[in-house]
Amino acid sequence: MNNCCPSLSAQNIMYLPGVGPRKADVLQKEIHISSWEDMLYYFPYKYIDRSRIFKIREIDGNMPYIQLKGKIRHYEAVGEGHKRRLTAVFGDDTGTVDLVWFQNIKSIQNAYKPGTEYILFGKPAFFNGRINIAHPELETEDRFFNGAVGVQGQYNTTEKMKNAFLHSRAVQRIITTILETLKEPLPETLSGEIVKRAALVSLDEAIRNIHFPASPAALRKAQFRLKFEELFYLQLNILQVTKYREKRFGGFRFAVVGDFFNRFYRENLPFELTDAQKRVVKEIRRDMNSGRQMNRLLQGDVGSGKTLVALLSILIALDNGFQAALMAPTEILANQHFETISHLVAGLGIEVRLLTGSSRKKERNAILPAVQNGDIHLLIGTHALIEDTVVFSGLGLVVVDEQHRFGVAQRAKLWDKNTVPPHVLVMTATPIPRTLAMTFYGDLDVSVIDELPPGRKPVKTIHIYSAKRNNLYHSVRRQLQEGRQVYIVYPLIEESETMDLKNLTAGFETAKEIFPEYRVSMVHGRMKAAEKDAEMQKFVAGETQIMVATTVIEVGVNVPNASVMIIENAERFGLAQLHQLRGRVGRGADQSFCILLTNYELSENTRRRIAIMTETNDGFVIAEEDLKLRGPGDIDGTQQSGIAFNLRIADLAHDGQILTIARDLAREILDDDPALQKPENELLNRQLKKLNLQKQAGWFMIS
Ligand code: ADP
Ligand code: MG
Repeated sequence: MNNCCPSLSAQNIMYLPGVGPRKADVLQKEIHISSWEDMLYYFPYKYIDRSRIFKIREIDGNMPYIQLKGKIRHYEAVGEGHKRRLTAVFGDDTGTVDLVWFQNIKSIQNAYKPGTEYILFGKPAFFNGRINIAHPELETEDRFFNGAVGVQGQYNTTEKMKNAFLHSRAVQRIITTILETLKEPLPETLSGEIVKRAALVSLDEAIRNIHFPASPAALRKAQFRLKFEELFYLQLNILQVTKYREKRFGGFRFAVVGDFFNRFYRENLPFELTDAQKRVVKEIRRDMNSGRQMNRLLQGDVGSGKTLVALLSILIALDNGFQAALMAPTEILANQHFETISHLVAGLGIEVRLLTGSSRKKERNAILPAVQNGDIHLLIGTHALIEDTVVFSGLGLVVVDEQHRFGVAQRAKLWDKNTVPPHVLVMTATPIPRTLAMTFYGDLDVSVIDELPPGRKPVKTIHIYSAKRNNLYHSVRRQLQEGRQVYIVYPLIEESETMDLKNLTAGFETAKEIFPEYRVSMVHGRMKAAEKDAEMQKFVAGETQIMVATTVIEVGVNVPNASVMIIENAERFGLAQLHQLRGRVGRGADQSFCILLTNYELSENTRRRIAIMTETNDGFVIAEEDLKLRGPGDIDGTQQSGIAFNLRIADLAHDGQILTIARDLAREILDDDPALQKPENELLNRQLKKLNLQKQAGWFMIS
């Protein structure tokens, strides 16, 4: 899995001095490290200046990790059962601090003797007026200074590792041993050409400096080299697979634009397309007539009119004698698409049907044969569409709405529906930042609708502290009096589900009390699908004016008359989710409002999120900020699309530029030598095979 020489990957760390079978076992189980190579590629997660030793007197209330030098005066074991802990008094010539351990009481006492001088490393805290350091690292001075001064790496360790005495310092010591044992520089993993063109330091220099930086500048160069390498091979892999797929699978050629499209455009189109919609439809048309199978991601902020673009694409498929499918993540949304589209295409002679999990057996029995013999042109539905029982006579285009709700396996199933895979158009309102799209989808083509239909007023977003909510009701009532509708959304997170449900129900009762003259709906995830749909439909039809709900309403529901979105406990929502929720209003021509209610006490991060929401309506800006605040591992869409590889050093939120360089070089190399068969690319080919990225991630089937 790691990229170094075979001999290093064959050397087991168990046989290193100071490791042994027990620690080796813990390393294997906890962080999947068994070879020397694995260990060398276990990089520090941060760096600390270890050149300074503090006096106890100097400790103040707000210090990160620090070092002290002194002796343990005495130990004391206190408490019973699971509350049992070990404390010690540790002192230097200026004072004392308390040390505390909650585990390994016996072995700690055996390992660290009172009276011996130690360098202590830990994070001081104040407790009952005393300075307290929990689970400190202790080291005798001679061992400590053995090659370990200046800026030092800190390694992530787990609880079980710490219990086996594999704390950060121990990990560092194992790495030192390996580096000292090596007789030759680490063999290069990138070709000389690339090292030269990207101005990289050698692998040997990079690995040594990432663990033991000779200087801040050397550390930066090491980081650049290793990040570059990681992203370069990722790109090389993605681009190679994409090229291969294009060669192997052709695509249906949709050459005609015929009656369905033209008549719809002339007679049924309810409004002029925006320029962005026109451009995107052109891109899709060109793609579907290229002879290649289309894999296009259609990004457009909520309300930008993706449905219409989908429909126009579908009409092209039908004009060419093919069927189309439109797949939505929820029944509510599938229903809504079915109704919108049936209405839009009325009179054109297009057979549209709805198939979802709650379709009756009788209905299903009528639909399935008609899909199979081609009588049905367009099938709209949920996952039910991709069950094996659904057989098309000629499926030419699949449109997937709100893509982040679909997993890899579900999309991969589509490929089995034909011998030639259908064109795929994936629509999402959750913009994917460029760096992520490049990494995860490779050459997936992206179309962007970057313009809202005319006459829309941007939603006004206002932050209000919950304690001041009374002022809010007055303005809400005014909106209701004008005939508008209102959403009130509550968080519902699994761990606290019961509590949240109580809040939601209480919110429902409160809404009824405060607005007795209006009718209130309630929808949440614990309700049966049919019940939920019925309640939702009441709101859609305007029979109820206030919708109290959890985030089940997040995706895609279209009630243009709703003009107020109140989000309770907004601090508990992520940025992407807040933006998505806000997109439920502002769909008509009237001024809409999004109210974020929070407590007074907010973390730095939450304040930033709320501020971004009140400052901008731009989904792309929000997506970029979201990535920065959360880190890429956390992104909704990528997690759920099953991307399995971990970036060990590159960070997509900050390394976009390195990614671009790596990608350009990778593309240049593949354009010249697609199979990497030329002698100068032999090393790259070997390394790529060794990394085996395809196996790690199943994404290439769907990208
Ligand atoms: P989304 O991109 O969020 O799926 P929709 O397709 O649901 O957006 O469109 C949002 C609303 O905008 C719908 O009510 C739709 O009828 C309307 N709409 C779409 N395109 C246009 C347009 N070109 N001009 C005016 N209204 C439009
Ligand atoms: Mg939509």
